[in-house]
Amino acid sequence: MKLTILALMLPMVCNSFSFAPPRQHPRLLSRLHASETSLKSERFADELGIPCEDECSMDCFPNMPESIHPGVLSGQGLMDLLKDAKDRKYALPAVNCVTSSSINTCLEAARTNDAPIMIQFSSGGSQFYAGKGLDNTNYKAAIAGAVSGAFHVRTLAEQYGVPVILHTDHCAKKLLPWVDGLLDASERYYEKHGEPLFSSHMIDLSEEPISENIEICEHYLRRMSKIGMVLEMELGVTGGEEDGVNNEDVAKEDLYSKPEEIWEVYERLSKISDKFTIAAAFGNVHGVYAGDIDLDPEILTRAQTYISDKLGPSAPADKKPAYFVFHGGSGSDLSDIRKAIDYGVIKMNIDTDTQWSYWEGIKNFEDKFSPYLQTQIGNPDGADKPNKKYYDPRECLRAAEVNTVDRLTQAFSDLNCQNILGLGPPEEPENTLGPRRGGLPV
Ligand SMILES: [Zn+2]
Repeated sequence: MKLTILALMLPMVCNSFSFAPPRQHPRLLSRLHASETSLKSERFADELGIPCEDECSMDCFPNMPESIHPGVLSGQGLMDLLKDAKDRKYALPAVNCVTSSSINTCLEAARTNDAPIMIQFSSGGSQFYAGKGLDNTNYKAAIAGAVSGAFHVRTLAEQYGVPVILHTDHCAKKLLPWVDGLLDASERYYEKHGEPLFSSHMIDLSEEPISENIEICEHYLRRMSKIGMVLEMELGVTGGEEDGVNNEDVAKEDLYSKPEEIWEVYERLSKISDKFTIAAAFGNVHGVYAGDIDLDPEILTRAQTYISDKLGPSAPADKKPAYFVFHGGSGSDLSDIRKAIDYGVIKMNIDTDTQWSYWEGIKNFEDKFSPYLQTQIGNPDGADKPNKKYYDPRECLRAAEVNTVDRLTQAFSDLNCQNILGLGPPEEPENTLGPRRGGLPV
């Protein structure tokens, strides 16, 4: 029923009635030089030979620019999504994923909330995706793991029918060979498909002197913008601890970026390309702590004004030239999150809170079915009763996923990122249960 309505609406939105003049397919529009490549199909599903029906087969969304389509975005589609977020004052949740289960959870949450999402891998998460039993000399496991995760995201994002920005998180100087490996993969993918494998990468040289930070970012922006990718750079330090990087004892003034520093980054990078975002520090801290966090999102609006004044007549009409990203969002006050969005934040990282929700789902599952989870045979229903359907890992992992979809729904709400695409609520999934496929007592 819903899809019939969509089928009626979409041709009007996507402007592809048969009497309309021939035009380029929206998915090709978002690619830079598709006509120069061997690109044959518009969808990844076609290339893989898997079904692509319902939301998967849509060309674009009722409420979005036509360059934005189900699947991974890059080039024009990616920039149009960032601009749409800034204009409509929402921010994308950017969730650190470590397994196919956490990726699927993000895609399910995005479709449930009728919204785009960012899926990102840290270097440690990429390595985990490949398996901690695999040697990681020269970051080879982290490179292979991130590429493997990227193909998983590309395969399933279309199936869930949501637009995804596929990103990697903090890359300090010593980790640059990891991102170099991923850029090699994106450049190779671009040669064949006219788009990069990933949408964007973060380069975090906030521990280096600012001149070196900007110089290296210039190098990467040159390389990335050629294939339609976006660079996220970090300025100032995000406090706390994440993925093995400990900034718990950093000096307090380093947690706040200065408008003139943000301008310097903006001025230098925009000479190369407009495809960059800035993780400016405004007191953000990774993780959730008992101590007070002193966020000062006003830094962001002062920086937008400072940059606009410098740009003069060439400043954009909204006087918000910079795209900001928000690290250390877990545990932040809603009022600070909303202010940051008002001031040009288009993405907020979420890691700690979804780590907790995933674990809490497993913990609650164990609490609920504890007597059925102690031995392979024997439970309160009888000494000879098997417990297989309780300890099947799909059961506790699904509990983790469901609990995390709920937590992400709160994040989508906090970030004003609900009912963005115009799809409406998803239909109940069918054919997912069977005699051998689940169904524990509720
Ligand atoms: Zn971060």
